[in-house]
Formats: sequence, structure tokens, C-alpha cells
Amino acid sequence: MKELVIDLEAEKKEILKRYRALLKACKSSLQKGDKRMIRKAFDMALESHQDMRRKSGEPYIYHPIAVAQIAAEEIGLGTTSIVCALLHDVVEDTDMTLEDVELEFGKKVAKIIDGLTKISGVFDYTNSSLQAENFRKMLLTLADDVRVILIKLADRLHNMRTMDHMPREKQLKISSETIYLYAPLAHRLGLYAMKSELEDLAMKYTEPATYKYIAKKLNEKKAERELYIKKFIDPIKKILNEQGLKAEVYGRSKSIHSIWNKMRKKNIPFEEVYDLFAIRVILDSTMDNEKADCWKAYSIVTDFYKPNPDRLRDWISMPKFNGYESLHTTVMGPKGQWVEVQIRTERMNEIAEKGFAAHWKYKEGQPTDNTNSGLESWLQKVREMLKNPESNALDFIDDFKMNLFSDEIFIFTPKGALRQLPLGATALDFAFDIHSDLGASCIGAKVNHKLVPLSYKLQNGDQVEIITSSKQAPKEDWLSFVITAKAKSKIKSSLKEEKKKIAEEGKEILERKLKSLKIPFTIENLNKLTTYFRLHASQDFLYQVAKGIIDIGDLKEYLNAEKTPENKVYERTEPTDFIKKLKADEIDTLLIGEDLQKIDYKLSNCCNPIPGDDVFGFVTVGDGIKIHRTNCPNATKLMSNFGYRIVKAKWNSQKQLAFLTGLKIIGIDQVGLINNLTGVISTDFKVNMRSITVDSHDGIFEGTIMVYVNDTMHLDNLINKIKQVKGITDVRRFDTDTPVEKAS
Ligand code: MN
Repeated sequence: MKELVIDLEAEKKEILKRYRALLKACKSSLQKGDKRMIRKAFDMALESHQDMRRKSGEPYIYHPIAVAQIAAEEIGLGTTSIVCALLHDVVEDTDMTLEDVELEFGKKVAKIIDGLTKISGVFDYTNSSLQAENFRKMLLTLADDVRVILIKLADRLHNMRTMDHMPREKQLKISSETIYLYAPLAHRLGLYAMKSELEDLAMKYTEPATYKYIAKKLNEKKAERELYIKKFIDPIKKILNEQGLKAEVYGRSKSIHSIWNKMRKKNIPFEEVYDLFAIRVILDSTMDNEKADCWKAYSIVTDFYKPNPDRLRDWISMPKFNGYESLHTTVMGPKGQWVEVQIRTERMNEIAEKGFAAHWKYKEGQPTDNTNSGLESWLQKVREMLKNPESNALDFIDDFKMNLFSDEIFIFTPKGALRQLPLGATALDFAFDIHSDLGASCIGAKVNHKLVPLSYKLQNGDQVEIITSSKQAPKEDWLSFVITAKAKSKIKSSLKEEKKKIAEEGKEILERKLKSLKIPFTIENLNKLTTYFRLHASQDFLYQVAKGIIDIGDLKEYLNAEKTPENKVYERTEPTDFIKKLKADEIDTLLIGEDLQKIDYKLSNCCNPIPGDDVFGFVTVGDGIKIHRTNCPNATKLMSNFGYRIVKAKWNSQKQLAFLTGLKIIGIDQVGLINNLTGVISTDFKVNMRSITVDSHDGIFEGTIMVYVNDTMHLDNLINKIKQVKGITDVRRFDTDTPVEKAS
């Protein structure tokens, strides 16, 4: 361990230097008296945190200063938020109370700090209550005052930027939360720059190897790319100028995370991702001329470079939900390469970078002017969703996230009014969006005058008319295709009502039966019966009685049953107890838990980890510890929602054990290919194959081979060897794509 030498004098100087940089960052928004307020907040924070240090050994005060700086510089927040950012950890981590804050800074600041303190449990990883409940709390505070969430995002961004000193499992957990909720929130609030940085930082921890690989590749071609960009923009710059448009034109690299996303989605190697950058044309224009200027610029660009007609996106006529306005086109650049061009004005660019907050001037005393903001209507939706929250917090967050992150489509009503819905919304979602009664009685829809079923997935620009019937009622299977949170919660609450009614009938049936047997109807008897049938709630029992699922012919026998059948409800076990109970296994290749013990585990079959993979353990309820790869498709959800069930796991691979993994092989079909292939695998390389599936069409060979390997190095060698087989063009490991594993 490195010894820490602390020079207090130097630190004092550094703190003041950072404070001055903060003041400079908020200079533009400072009004009379603001500076004094900020100073007061800084002094209070400095004093309260004075003996605290961060994991890195630095003085704690660096953190609130940095959070305040992000709030000012990168989100464009005003003085109240700067004050709150400086004080954001004071109530939670020090002796200072909310009353102290209110006394010094007033009600408004105290309320925001209260919100920030309430949701701080999200960061507290040892808290073993369901993470989703914390997320829900966070969203509740979001509905109160958006500044709470904006400061929380600044807090999260700074924590992500300075996570190197955290233990590995905390890095994984925090990164997963970031991907699961914070990045989507930043996206939803229009903070694109922050969203990209959060995603890249999270990827750096969850996928270190891939992250480094892409970063390296990007760097290698940097000079070449810059030359290309210059060649691309020089001529259009010139014409824009000649045509009297003041514009800044530059190329901008896509984020590592978005490049990786593309590689995964299209299943292509880095070399085949063509849009590693986008060109931005930022116009200096007045409010009145913005739209005309943007289209003029568009016409200049597409006169010079041929556009792909399918790739025009007009978010100027219809801005995105989060306020994003821009004109996107993809054109054929030099050397036959497709290039994305984004055209917008400086004002639009400010919104694109800093989000709506940039235009929300939270000036002291005056209410916000956001009459026309799409964000306000989104917040309205959030409040609506929170009004009837799901009893199951996890479901709620899942639904919410789905609505939070997906892109939106525009749908017209029969009268031509415009509604925005998330991508993937069905005709039934649209009905519920208009009104819950319309949704509940919906039997079908006409889309562009053609009759379609309820489950029809709407397309951008569809005009939808809903057909209803007074006899219709919400059905269980509707839940399988609606995607909006509003539709889901309305259907669920209606089904619950229905169930309650049927259970009432069941109660009457039971009462009659008991009466005929001269047994009193008591809660005790009801509970006995419910337990006998291994049900959780007496309502479930009564429902099943009414539905005839349960036959109550032998009531006496059930009630007198000495022993109720084995209880199916599992006790929740704390992970640590759980680990202790497990017996050490002699054949260890994995070390699990804080002190990396040798205990029993199972390899999950959604990602088939092999030695050398970056892995973690997940404590399941009935199935011991399961090992997943950190890049497993299910990992993010497991880690962010059940963080307390994550245990550290590390390979300790000395034994020659074999692990199953899959390879996807693509090539040009030719005589003897399979023979050569299996020859390399089993004869030359002596690897056992479990299965091989081959598909050949139009001369293209596509094979999937399941093989047993020892570790990632062994696998890499095998892949390289197969690549040398004549006719093979591509070999890669694939992740078996099984549906999300239940957390229990
Ligand atoms: Mn903090």
C-alpha cells in the first residue's frame, strides 16, 4: 500500500483554488447576493466535512465542489442548485441537520437537500432493502423538483469519474446502476453529453477489455480520420460561407459505448462500424430564421454529397420528448463512405448538450417559464405514473425504465391531434394513453382506416381510431403486449378489482359449505385452509374456490390435517449466512466472497462463464450461488436491483477443467470445410465438441459449435487456429441468448 503523506497547507491552497474555479464556472448566472450565498454554503460544507476524506485519501470537500461545478458548467444550473450541490452530503454524512440548513438557507434549499438525502440510499450498497424501492423513492423526489435529480446526476457523474479507489464489486454495482437508471435519466432529461460519459465510464468498469480495445482502435486511426473529416468539411464550409450562413462545422467522435452497441447489435467487428464520427453544422442564427437556415444548410450539404433518402431525421419540426432539436441526414462522403451530418443552431446545440435545464432558468423567487416544454409534459406523465404505483417496486421500475429510455413515435388521433408514445407501443397503449376508460373498453382499432388487433405495434405517423364495446373488460393477456406504464398499471388494477369481486363470491360459497358442515367461518379456519393449499393470501384461496380450481369437497379433512404440507415460502437469507452454510467444495476453480472462500457455486447458463472471464457471484434463493459474466445480458439488472446479493468471485484457475462455450463460425462454403474444421478442433487442438450445427445457403457457411475449453486463453488460441482454416472468414464466441433469468 502506498503511504499517504498529507500536506495540510498545500491542501488548503488547493481547496481554495478549486472553490475559485467553481465561482468562475457560475459567473454568468450570478446576481446580487449570489456570491455571498455560495460562499456561505461552501464554508458550511468545508466545516462539516473537515475531517472526512474520500477513498482516494483526498479531502472530502473536493467532491461537493466538483458536483457543484458539474451542476453549473455541464448542466447550466443556477445559484440555488450550486448551494444545494455544495451541501448535498452535509445532512447525510455529518452532524448538520436539515433544520440547520433551513435556518441558514431557507425552505427551498432545505427541501432539495431533503430530497437528495432521501435518495442517497441508492448509493449505500450495504443497505439490503430492495434496490428498486430506492429507485422509486428517487423518482418520487424527481416529480417534486427536477433539480433534485439533476444534482443527483452531477453527484453520480463525479462518483463515476473518481471510482478507481473503490473495491471491484462496488465498481460493478455502481456502474450497473448507472447503466440501468442514471444514463437513461440523463437521456430523458436531454443531457446527451452526460449520458454518453456515464455510459462510457460504466463500460470502463463492466467491460474493461472491450473498452480498452475500442479506445485503442479509435486512437490508431485518429490521424487518418481527422484528415478525412477535414476533406469532408472544407468544401461545405466554403459554400455555407458564400451563401451567407455563419456556421461552425466540425467532426465529432462517437462514444466508445455507442460504437460497442453498434458492434453488438449488428454483430460486426470494429472495422465494419463506418460511422465512428458525425459531422456537426452549428449555425449562428436568430430565433426567427432558425428553421429556414437549417433547411438551407441541409440543402447545401446534400447538393454537395448525395443523401441517403431513408436517413433523414427532422427533429426541428417535431422536437424529441427531451427537447432535442436537430436535423440529421446521412450522406455519401469521399471514398464511398456514409457520413452522418447533424444540422442545428447554437440555441438547439445548447439544449442538446445541457438538456432542458439549460433553458430552465431557476432564478431565485420567480417560477420557471416552461409553458411549451416537452419536458414539462413528460414530468406530468411521471407524476401520473407515480400516482398509482405498482405494489411491486421492481415491476414498476422495469415499466418505468422502458418508458424512460425508448425513443418515441408520433401518432395522430382521428381528428389530427398529435400524441407521443414510446417506440413499440401498441394500439391498446394508445387507447390507454388517451383515456383509461377508452383502454378498458377497447376491442380493436383502425390504423390508417384499416382494422387491426389490439396488439398491433404502431408506426411513426399512424392515424389511429379506437373501437370500443361496453361489454369489454381488461384481460390478463393484455399485459403481455402493452408496453406503457400507464396501460400496465390500469390493466393490473382492474384485474385486481375483478379478482377481489370473484374472491367475494368464493367467500360466499365457502360460508355456505362451512355452514352445512356446522363449522364456524373464522379467520383462523380461513388461514388454515389457505396454508393447506400452500397459498400466500386468503384472497387467492377464495378466488380459486370461486373459479372451481380448488375443490372444497373434503373441507373437514383439510381443517383437521395435522401437518400442513411443506411450506413453499422460502426464508430470505442474508448472503453472508448463506455463504457460511455452504460447504467448501474440493474442486475449486473459483474463489467467492469478501475473503474469497472456496465454496459451492453453479455456472449460470445464460452467459456460460469460463475461467479468465470477468465474473461475479449472485446469491439465488433456491439454487445457491450462480456465477455470471460481468457482461452477461442479465448482469446489469441483477447487479443494480439486487446489489446486496452480489458476491465477489475470482478465478483461481490451475486445474484443467473444461467449460462449455459456443463459437459462431462464418465462411464461404467449400468441399471439405466441415472436415477441416472439425479436424482442427478435435485432432489438432484436442478440444471436445459437444455439438455442431451448420447452416449453408447461397454459398455461405454458418456454423455454431459448442466446445469445451479450459479458459479464455485456450479459447483465444482455438479461435485463432480456426480462423486459419481455408474458407473461414469470421470466428467469434457468442453469448447464448436466453431470456432474463428470474432473480430468485
Ligand atoms: Mn455525493
